[in-house]
Amino acid sequence: MGGTPTDLKLIDENGRRLDGRLPDEMRPLKIEAGVLSRADGSAYVEWGLNKVMAAVYGPRECHPRHLQNPERALVQCNYNMASFSVDDRKRPGPDRRSHEISKIISEALTHVVFTEYFPRTSIDVYIEVLQANAGTRCAGLTAASVALADAGVPMRDLVASCAAGKVADTVVVDLAKEEDNFGQADIPLGYVPRTGEIVLLQMDGDLTSDQFNKGISMAMEGCKKVYEVQRDALKRRYEVRSAGTELEVLGAAPAKEGM
Ligand code: UDP
Repeated sequence: MGGTPTDLKLIDENGRRLDGRLPDEMRPLKIEAGVLSRADGSAYVEWGLNKVMAAVYGPRECHPRHLQNPERALVQCNYNMASFSVDDRKRPGPDRRSHEISKIISEALTHVVFTEYFPRTSIDVYIEVLQANAGTRCAGLTAASVALADAGVPMRDLVASCAAGKVADTVVVDLAKEEDNFGQADIPLGYVPRTGEIVLLQMDGDLTSDQFNKGISMAMEGCKKVYEVQRDALKRRYEVRSAGTELEVLGAAPAKEGM
């Protein structure tokens, strides 16, 4: 959020945004499930110019043991931005922002996972942002929930995530980088379509209560679209698995005999 450079028009005279989108239009979204063969579950998300990978390990014994909960599993998320994911090289390693995002994503996922089925275990979720263009926490949460489903972790439903915000006094969905930088507000949302629960909600900037309500309903509509793409990715993954063509689809040719 910040002051707009005077020559930057975030909404033009036709009501279109910098990348030509209308206020309620989202950036293109692609999701692929099961892209990593070493993890128990994985997903890759391309959302506009964001590129995010998520991998899941577990449920497995929780270490260190003093963290174990005798009644349920811990869902532990680690969100990381690669140094090369942004224009100015990002200093590698954890920082306040990545701790915050890891925490809110862990909490959002804990709401949908049947953690009570796996006492004393940890379900570890790794989110790597390969390319960032605003909305990486939403892309990360979206990828993580597909990766959990791909790992076969029992869940009440997927969590779908999408942000809304305010730019040039207009409420818009799915902010891109310039909108995030020079806009007036950003509201990332995590939503469970089956139950209608909101499991992640943050707000940065200023909105009237009407604008806030409009933003929430736009973000929810966005989440419903994300949910469809998540489900399609999992259906494709299921079809590949049941057809037994996994190796070819993942681009790893089967090893030849006698070499
Ligand atoms: N960003 C960056 N360097 C950083 C952190 C963020 O360039 O160290 C950029 C990146 O494109 C990110 C955007 O700022 O997507 C918005 O960041 P924010 O903290 O709002 O989180 P996000 O919208 O990615 O969930």
